[in-house]
Amino acid sequence: MILLQETELEAEVPDFDNGGFKRARLVYRLDPLFGHGTRLIEGAKLQPAAEPLGELVERTGFCPFCADTIDSATAPFPEEISRTGRIIVGKSWVVPNVVAYSAVSAVGVYDISRHFLSLADLTRDVVYDVLSALTRHAKAVQEVRPELIYSSINANYLPPSGSSLIHPHVQSSLDPVPLGAQRRMIDHARTHFESYSRSYFEELVGLEEVSGSRFVGWTGPMAWLVPFAPSGFYETWAVASEIGLISELADDTLYQLATGISLVMGAYAATGLQSFNFSLMSASPTWQADGSRLFFRMLARAPLAPYYRSDVTYFERLGQEAMIDHSPEDWAATLRSHFGAGLT
Ligand SMILES: [Zn+2]
Repeated sequence: MILLQETELEAEVPDFDNGGFKRARLVYRLDPLFGHGTRLIEGAKLQPAAEPLGELVERTGFCPFCADTIDSATAPFPEEISRTGRIIVGKSWVVPNVVAYSAVSAVGVYDISRHFLSLADLTRDVVYDVLSALTRHAKAVQEVRPELIYSSINANYLPPSGSSLIHPHVQSSLDPVPLGAQRRMIDHARTHFESYSRSYFEELVGLEEVSGSRFVGWTGPMAWLVPFAPSGFYETWAVASEIGLISELADDTLYQLATGISLVMGAYAATGLQSFNFSLMSASPTWQADGSRLFFRMLARAPLAPYYRSDVTYFERLGQEAMIDHSPEDWAATLRSHFGAGLT
């Protein structure tokens, strides 16, 4: 049983028109998977308005990911990972990460021919190329180092999301230990499976598809939905049916996943958003026996504005609670319109 718990916190704010205080709507929800709280608030705008990116996204000097420099500015892979030293799909290159974030970490550049790609430029083909190249890398690494069972593909896009380089790119992690959220996701799925003999994720998708208000649609085996209690702005999830690991992703499924990601990016652009993080996490290697599944989550970060206030406060960093100023159900309705148009 998945319990979706919601409480109205009965908050009050000063009533400047009539004096005294008046009731303000503040809905509190608990995320059953990750355990965080979400406060759905009204009357505040928690992110700055997007302004044109302007000169920031123009190349002014050295960029290690542009076509004229990437060959000399990045190192080739060892022969056991790629016989040619390079992993290239279309205009996408995957190169070794220069910082050791993980036991093995690679960087995937979406398109070396363009220094900046806007959200609208991140089409399904562009997203597919980089995911395909990173998946190829992950498979090669896990053949050489099978102990690196925890695999993920993650993205920062523009500085508000934590990206240090403007040229859009994606990063992978291959580790003997899971990411925190990956551990939580796998542990929760296992506990759920032991109690109810069925996959948490299959149950979640079934529940949301029937209730409908947060369900977005399918791209192949990927079910897209908005979480009941988001951990950030405009959060969107995809759960894979009967797929556990990044290394198991077939080419057509990768394209279907890329299609969904690109449609979410398009919806972000249409909503006036600019920056995002995403994470595609492998399940446990024993996913068929414990109910965990390949899991994708993506959220928007504050648009790029000078001297902007961070969209992550003590609530999120220390309190494990997200403050959200929009309705998850409204966001799902917006996404449905984009998916409906984008899939035909
Ligand atoms: Zn560049």
